[in-house]
Amino acid sequence: GIAVCWLRRDLRLFDNTALYHALKSGLPVQVIFIFDPAILQSLPQKKDRRVAFIHRQLEKINAELSQFGASLFVLHDLPEKAFEKLIFEYPVREVYTNHDYEAYARSRDKAVSDFLLAHHVQFHSYKDQVIFEKEEVLKPNGTPYTVFTPYSRKWKEQLQQNGVPGFPSEDYLPKLLKKPNKPILSLAEIGFETTDPEVAEADLSEELIKHYHKNRDLPYIDGTSRAGVHLRFGTVSIRHLVKQALQQNEAWLNELIWREFFMMILYHFPHVEQHNFRRKYDRIQWRNNEKEFEAWCRGETGYPLVDAGMRQLNETGWMHNRVRMVVAGFLCKHLLIDWRWGEAYFAEKLLDYELASNNGNWQWAAGTGCDSAPYFRIFNPESQLKKFDPKLEYVKTWIKDFRAGYLEPIVDHKFARARALETYKKALS
Ligand code: FAD
Repeated sequence: GIAVCWLRRDLRLFDNTALYHALKSGLPVQVIFIFDPAILQSLPQKKDRRVAFIHRQLEKINAELSQFGASLFVLHDLPEKAFEKLIFEYPVREVYTNHDYEAYARSRDKAVSDFLLAHHVQFHSYKDQVIFEKEEVLKPNGTPYTVFTPYSRKWKEQLQQNGVPGFPSEDYLPKLLKKPNKPILSLAEIGFETTDPEVAEADLSEELIKHYHKNRDLPYIDGTSRAGVHLRFGTVSIRHLVKQALQQNEAWLNELIWREFFMMILYHFPHVEQHNFRRKYDRIQWRNNEKEFEAWCRGETGYPLVDAGMRQLNETGWMHNRVRMVVAGFLCKHLLIDWRWGEAYFAEKLLDYELASNNGNWQWAAGTGCDSAPYFRIFNPESQLKKFDPKLEYVKTWIKDFRAGYLEPIVDHKFARARALETYKKALS
């Protein structure tokens, strides 16, 4: 018999929990990936940077496997169907995979594991994407935290007690099932096209991480790690990142904890996916002007920092965090457009899109989320520009023809501020 290791959001052969356990099972291991048509069909375009990124990683993995006389098996089918074929063709005894927490993934995994168990194939799933999940960091009274600082304190305490575990799957790769190496399915075969530019590698150099807290807020500097997309698809290991952060920079560690904080919030308060974390904010009367929304999407609001940010997003699939905060605040407060519209636009464009982080940060910007700034704190996009891009370096990078007397602002700041305060106050009264 053989064991199958099913990769999903953990596209790497090193420090991979499921792969480690599979390789230690005593059975030869076949690594697989399944392109799920249910997910692919929901994507608006055939040129999709995230699909192309996944495909490129799979090619790399297949090349690495070839060094061990093994091969990656890529399928294009509904996961349950794919397993039906697999267990028909191969003597599969066990399937190993890592937990995937979003609603669709959970129901998919339930269906697959029920199917496998009915056919006497064991299904093992492990925590891998996070250090602490679900109910592992709770208040002393057993309820979930809703404020970041005490959550992060408890998270760090627990880390100190338990240490960061390691699952050195890379040491056991000779136990893979030997199979002639073949090219994997091409992008065209799954109905997609190649894209450029290539996604930036994460910069995890000591140099960058050590100066992170000084540079992170300046969008004209490459001062952040760009680890987001790599965490999203597991091409880096969160355990490696946390070990590095512990040694090199606590400010950066806190950002990694924010990621788990929002995942924990989504798990305990699933209503946030559709609603405001604080229910009374559901009464906000959004203006939802479609023309203004389109201007925001295109980066044509007349506010240079907002526009530069949106153009960076449209062109590259990434936007600097400081600017994400500014454009999100602007959409919700200045234009009074429902944060869910902005959230959906980001979900479509961001390479590092992560449901929990995107939702949590949008609700934070709208002032409707857990632990968010009070709603009356409204960013002035002009002062933000003076503070964080005083020489207009970032603005000029993304607005090619920028000059004085740039586009007329879509709305006056003072007027918009008063209107937002009025609207929020009314909803909360
Ligand atoms: P670094 O600054 O180097 O941080 C390292 C890692 O820490 C990030 O890759 C990310 O995994 C995590 N992290 C950092 N900041 C946050 C944060 N505020 N919340 C949660 N995790 C964080 N991040 C996403 O990963 N996916 C999203 O869909 C997403 N949507 C956002 C939407 C808005 C409106 C805002 C304001 C922020 C959003 N963020 C999101 C958070 C943050 O902007 C990005 O994680 C960060 O800019 C990614 O760049 P980096 O990898 O260089 O991060």
